[in-house]
Amino acid sequence: MLVLVMFADVEYLATEVYHLRPYQCQKCCKRYSTRSNLQRHIKVECGQEPRFQCPYCPHRSNYKANLAMHIYRRHRLQ
Ligand SMILES: [Zn+2]
Ligand SMILES: [Zn+2]
Repeated sequence: MLVLVMFADVEYLATEVYHLRPYQCQKCCKRYSTRSNLQRHIKVECGQEPRFQCPYCPHRSNYKANLAMHIYRRHRLQ
């Protein structure tokens, strides 16, 4: 019973994601809610080498803010 409920939830979520994010990258299939978000992804993320390198581990990010969040969460430093 519980399993059925969980599957129903997953299906509902998948439908939600599809409707909320109608713009899909043709290269990597990531979905975005707005065209500008998709264009930013294609321009900044998709097919690009991540520019910001974590000084504490091999993690890289396209965004400085994301890297700062990674460092805070993984390494507990700010
Ligand atoms: Zn992409
Ligand atoms: Zn790191």
